[in-house]
Amino acid sequence: MHTFRSLLLLSLMFSSWFGGVARAESMWKAGVSRAVITPEKAVWLAGYGSKRVPDGKLHDLWMKALALEDTAGHRVVLITSDFQGVPKMMSDRVFARLERDFALRRQDVMFTFSHNHCGPRLGDDLKDYYPVEVSQELLVSEYTDRMVDRTVQLVGEALGQLAPARLEQGSGEATFAVNRRNNREPDVPRLIAAGELLGPVDHRVPVLRVVRPDGKLAAVLFGYACHPTTLSFMTWCGDYPGFAQLAIEKEHPGATAMFVNTCGGDQNPLPRRQVELCERYGHELAAAVEQALQQPMTAITPKLETAFELIQLDYQEVVSQQRLRELLRDGRSLRARWAARMLQKLENGEQFETSYPYPVHAWQLGAELLMIGTGAETVVDYSLRFQSEFGPGTWVCGYTDDMIAYIPSRRVWEEGGYEGGYNLYEYGRPAFRWAGDVEQRIADSVHRLVKQVRSRP
Ligand SMILES: [Zn+2]
Repeated sequence: MHTFRSLLLLSLMFSSWFGGVARAESMWKAGVSRAVITPEKAVWLAGYGSKRVPDGKLHDLWMKALALEDTAGHRVVLITSDFQGVPKMMSDRVFARLERDFALRRQDVMFTFSHNHCGPRLGDDLKDYYPVEVSQELLVSEYTDRMVDRTVQLVGEALGQLAPARLEQGSGEATFAVNRRNNREPDVPRLIAAGELLGPVDHRVPVLRVVRPDGKLAAVLFGYACHPTTLSFMTWCGDYPGFAQLAIEKEHPGATAMFVNTCGGDQNPLPRRQVELCERYGHELAAAVEQALQQPMTAITPKLETAFELIQLDYQEVVSQQRLRELLRDGRSLRARWAARMLQKLENGEQFETSYPYPVHAWQLGAELLMIGTGAETVVDYSLRFQSEFGPGTWVCGYTDDMIAYIPSRRVWEEGGYEGGYNLYEYGRPAFRWAGDVEQRIADSVHRLVKQVRSRP
């Protein structure tokens, strides 16, 4: 009797132990890491066409990483950051080292940045926006080198933290993003009051939560389509996404909140320019995330498929040497600086490319979540289009891997104006404008990649 009871107890212990293992093996693994990236030296603030010397901080800037592993051992890492713009010269170095150190393939890493205009300069991003000062160039280059190291370290830490987790998704809504092409900024308060704002917006707030088997919330990833340009002063902060992340982390101690900008190229937080407004937008976004977390969320099956392409986006016309010479006399200093730098390249024997290599990602998580990553400042049409074409559970991240320039849809390209017209020189490209088929090329690529990730058994 006694022996029988022992055996029964032993077998019960075994079955629960095996059951536990089986449960863990049928789960995702997730690892989360974070690092402060606030510059310690006077690297200028990025994103507006002027010299902005930092005068302190409202709160720290962060870079965060979420590593995921499915039941077959396939790993991906999503990096989010409070950077304004990560240039190719920086992210390429990161991707090469991630492949070397952690065998992470290019298709398995997305390096996103919120496009925060109270974040620091990096590499040659928006190089001609700023007056040239040798000491500043050195600081930017030194800071960029440190951030390359820091990103690689951060990813290593996230991979080191991989442990069983459930992934669940839902969504909320926040309404402070305004289509800045269709509404004049001074008119916005009146238009809001009258309910007369115009133009496409994407007010959806997609939310992905990472929950440990004991119910502990490890991370909350959320997105919103809007420029982090509430503030334009000289103080380090994460703008509205920074405030939103802080609010979520305060509400959920121990959890890491991560933000991706979901195609906010033509969206602004309006009205703006006051810290109170910035905080209010951050809290509105955090409340939308809470709203999603309170609702029943959709569990995501632990299966991962990824695909990636660099596609060529053509310039409408590459700038000529003659035109550059004329522009040296241009009264607008940004354009004159650009022209001088471009002429120097030609004099050094460089030839301008006629197109730019544009990164496109598709990650399929279970059958439930499709994450599309698009480089640069994609306008909101991309997010709306792919959500409608691929259905619920589709996230479209803009500002992924490379800052490049504005990426207009065909509609915005035809309309012209700032985001659709002559802006490429501002970003240091050897041209003024994209060819008219950029949306077509990007959409073709996205469809190819989604077909790949969805057709694998
Ligand atoms: Zn922008």
